Amino acid sequence: MDRFGRVATDLRVSLTDRCNLRCTYCMPAEGLDWLRDDRVLTDAEIVRLIAIAVDLLGVDEIRFTGGEPLLRKGLEGIVAATTALRTADGRSPQTALTTNGLGLARRSAGLAAAGLGRVNVSLDTLRRDRFLTITHRDRLEDVLAGASAASAAGLGPIKINAVLLRGINDDEAPDLLRWALGAGYQLRFIEQMPLDAQGAWDRSVMITAEEILDKLGREFELRPHDTDARGAAPAETWRVTDGEHSGVVGIIASVTRPFCGTCDRARLTADGQIRDCLFATAETDLRQMLRDGATDEQLADVWRAAMWGKRAGHGMDDPGFLRPSRPMSAIGG
Ligand code: SAM
Ligand code: SF4
Repeated sequence: MDRFGRVATDLRVSLTDRCNLRCTYCMPAEGLDWLRDDRVLTDAEIVRLIAIAVDLLGVDEIRFTGGEPLLRKGLEGIVAATTALRTADGRSPQTALTTNGLGLARRSAGLAAAGLGRVNVSLDTLRRDRFLTITHRDRLEDVLAGASAASAAGLGPIKINAVLLRGINDDEAPDLLRWALGAGYQLRFIEQMPLDAQGAWDRSVMITAEEILDKLGREFELRPHDTDARGAAPAETWRVTDGEHSGVVGIIASVTRPFCGTCDRARLTADGQIRDCLFATAETDLRQMLRDGATDEQLADVWRAAMWGKRAGHGMDDPGFLRPSRPMSAIGG
């Protein structure tokens, strides 16, 4: 719990800072200085910290992310160990994976067998040339195959995360939505945030939720969905139909419609740091404690203290706002 009464029951675990794509809004084409192997938590260390979160801190939802979490060979084992845990009310924690989809076609069955709940696949365009421009890799077909395999393996409802970039794919919102409705996926647009490693984000250029709604509203009828039941969900959602298929579309408007007041998230980085917010400027190191022989109770106490200090909001509009010193790929998106 923090000073404002928010309880962090949703833990985002970054399994690696590495990635096999180079999305322009996330990292430079040449990649980044990746964490040294000895700084990255082992599978056993990750599982121990997740167990502390579930057993001692009330966490009941775990999302695996990165970097690209499918680059982690032990992912299936980590998922299986997580789903074997029990929350205070005796349930298996809910689990989800956020991935760029590369290699997902091959691993979906194994992930489902390990007990994984749901998958979010990130995809910003359905056009091969644009996919190459945005990610610097020619892998659109692999992503589509990954989403489809995950759906077939029962890892749905599949959510598709899309970031719109002005002049690159911002005319594609209706096409992405028609495709998602037809495939039975739930599309969610994410406002571009100042979390790229290059520091290139520009508020005056980013595509806002209002603009996305306007683009969609010209071709679809949108009806607010679940407004009372939104809870801590980052996405605002609308029911939508294209005449043939109906479904739900969401917008995660972290910049223009922040939802910090209901945030229930905590983050564990691949190198064992607790972050109370994507935009936190400080981290709490659990890795050294873990390797120095701390008990579960000692680790839980330090983790509790870290969350207590969470600020009321990300403060992006404050004059003194500082971008976090690590990019999204290292924090865990
Ligand atoms: N590699 C995985 C993927 O792409 O799904 C997981 C990590 S990625 C950092 C998680 C999500 O963050 C993706 O949906 C991605 O589009 C989004 N993302 C990355 N950089 C972003 C930024 N600057 N603003 C908004 N969303 C961003
Ligand atoms: Fe990799 Fe995900 Fe960042 Fe794209 S958004 S570069 S897939 S970590």
